[in-house]
Amino acid sequence: MDLSILNDVQRKAVEVVDGPILVVAGAGSGKTRVLTHRIANLIENHDIFPSGIMAITFTNKAANEMKTRIGSLIGPVTSQMWVGTFHSICVRILRRDADRIGYTSDFVIYDTQDQKALLKACYKELNIDDKQTPLKTSQFKISAAKNDMLTPELYDMQNASDYREKGFIKLYYLYQAKLKQNQAMDFDDLMLKTIELFKQNQDVLSYYQNKFKYIHVDEYQDTNRAQYTLIQYLAAKNRNLFVVGDADQSIYKWRGADIRNIREFEEDFPGAQIFKLEQNYRSKKNILDLANSVIVNNPNRRDKSLWTDQDSGEKIGYFRGYDEKDEAKFVIERIRTFIREKEYKLSDFAILYRTNAQSRSFEDQLMLNAMAYKVIGGLKFYERKEIKDLLAYMKLVVNPNDDVSFIRVINEPKRSIGGKTIEKIQAFQSKTELSLLESIPHLSQIEGIGAKAQKGLVEFYELIMGLKAKLDTAFVSQIYDELLEKLNIISLYELERSIEADARIDNIYEFKTVIEEFEKRSESPNLRDFLAETSLRSDQDNIEEQEDGVLLMTLHASKGLEFPVVFLVGLEDNLFPSFRAMDDPEELEEERRLCYVGITRAEERLFVTHARNRNQYGRFEPRHPSPFLREMDQSILENLSDQNEMPSFDPPKPKKENYFSKNALKSKQSFFGKASGTQGNTTPVASASQSATYFAGAKVNHKVFGMGLVISVGADGEMLTIAFDSCGIKKIHSGLAPIRRV
Ligand code: ATP
Ligand code: MG
Repeated sequence: MDLSILNDVQRKAVEVVDGPILVVAGAGSGKTRVLTHRIANLIENHDIFPSGIMAITFTNKAANEMKTRIGSLIGPVTSQMWVGTFHSICVRILRRDADRIGYTSDFVIYDTQDQKALLKACYKELNIDDKQTPLKTSQFKISAAKNDMLTPELYDMQNASDYREKGFIKLYYLYQAKLKQNQAMDFDDLMLKTIELFKQNQDVLSYYQNKFKYIHVDEYQDTNRAQYTLIQYLAAKNRNLFVVGDADQSIYKWRGADIRNIREFEEDFPGAQIFKLEQNYRSKKNILDLANSVIVNNPNRRDKSLWTDQDSGEKIGYFRGYDEKDEAKFVIERIRTFIREKEYKLSDFAILYRTNAQSRSFEDQLMLNAMAYKVIGGLKFYERKEIKDLLAYMKLVVNPNDDVSFIRVINEPKRSIGGKTIEKIQAFQSKTELSLLESIPHLSQIEGIGAKAQKGLVEFYELIMGLKAKLDTAFVSQIYDELLEKLNIISLYELERSIEADARIDNIYEFKTVIEEFEKRSESPNLRDFLAETSLRSDQDNIEEQEDGVLLMTLHASKGLEFPVVFLVGLEDNLFPSFRAMDDPEELEEERRLCYVGITRAEERLFVTHARNRNQYGRFEPRHPSPFLREMDQSILENLSDQNEMPSFDPPKPKKENYFSKNALKSKQSFFGKASGTQGNTTPVASASQSATYFAGAKVNHKVFGMGLVISVGADGEMLTIAFDSCGIKKIHSGLAPIRRV
């Protein structure tokens, strides 16, 4: 293997074989490249077996890329080498030994939606009102506790004297007990349970410590306490730990990431060798200068020099649009011009924004121009109802203890089984150790279930058990086909004769393609592994290599990636930086790091844009430029706006209290608590179809999204903009949506 393609420091870092090593460096300096070359070097030049190597990446996509890169250096990577995310590696460990901590190896993984369903059940049992305490709040709090490695017991010990925590502690205990009952783990549990496994079973820990002689971690700055602990465990014996990171790119504080992990690496691993890379290979000089001019404004950072021998390149394009549509038009027009004049693919262009909701205006323009595009993020496909339903069936086939999946699909399609019937089975269940599914053969002992419902339950049971019998012999696609056939699901949707139902049918077929692709690349194409893989899909993984299209994604999802042309859009105060940063200096620093990440994704060209007005939450509001624009080195910006002079980035003093001024914000936050009713149009506007009156401030209940607060009513009196506790802001047609006032 040729190491001459690396610079001196890179090569030195690659050539050290033993001991703890930290590579710290700014964006685009080759950290990931060093990591892959190091692994290739170990195998090729030091005869280390791939089975002794582990590499942890931040996304599955990054893991696949890493395998490909190593493969191109030394030939295909075998599954002997473990390359994956923290979560996927933990799943692999737990599948083997979960029984040692009281789980079966067929445990299921609950995603955010499943988690919510389970919390809902806990709320019901504890009589908690989800209007007072939104599910999301509890979900976040549990996750934060787990990221800090606080089990219910530990959390209880730490907070026992705080009476305000009593309710939460009770909930946390119950939630955890219910997970166990369902033989399920949420994402955070995957980490915690692996740590628990190691803590309690020295032999298991020793096995992995002896097996993995060389451990690597990319994006080390974004590891949280639990992840950090796991690495400590794994690396404790051989101490061959190789991590790379950049404190300036730490953007997951909100998920418990702790920059101290990188700052104190030397203390944690005495004798560690530290390498600093200073040459950036990714970006033109102007792009790098712009990034530096922003990040130097973070007070609590260690300054580092990052240089490039590339030429300056073009100036950074700056555009200020009239509104978000104008902004989007500019971006799409630029892309068209680039493609006309140079040989670019659509996927050479990335549009990066702060919040998912910003994608819509760009999507509109892309569609108008018939340009292919991809929105990366939001687990879009897997969040669709029909897919979630089918997944729930498959989860049940693997794990009959999974009550959450049971409840999701027992009456989907309709089997005349309502909430009452389920409650009766639950009452029976509480006297036994059985899951809901396992209770069905005992129906004769449960009183008051009608004949129709009984029939439905038995059919359901037979369906699941019939498929379960094939679990070890059939391909996933065979099980899937049989499931579709037995459910008669395609015909049912066909009968609906709606565009929506057609889209669902498309998705169901598309899912078959997903399964077939899995079968092609997997060594053991069984349902268990398939479910584990689909559960672990993360936002960034939606990029499909083969199809070309302009890429749209949040800044968070862009981490570690690079694109020839980048549009950093929506640079407005209270949008980017987010309004949360307004009163919180630490938050502002994190937003600034996010800006740094965004800028440094660009290789050749970068554009920064914002709008003077924006439709947000159903209101058209004037906007102020982001402070980050002001921080950018003005001499390398080129104004492409219609106005001739460079605009002043100093925000004008607000004349009247606007939506985002401080007072308004306070009441905005209270959307999710008490209704404030002070925003927007408070004049009642009658909605035609439901004879209900909707007005800003009205409380509503939506069948799917739950409780929400009307923020504004469209001119037609029917389009409502609603802030839902469960899923944020949505536009809803009052006449069409399953919604009522409460
Ligand atoms: P980030 O902080 O964004 O994750 P990084 O430090 O991991 O960035 P890489 O993605 O490894 O950086 O490298 C950035 C780009 O520079 C890649 O395209 C890589 O191939 C290229 N590169 C890195 N080192 C060299 C080198 N010595 N010679 C030529 N190209 C290089
Ligand atoms: Mg990298």
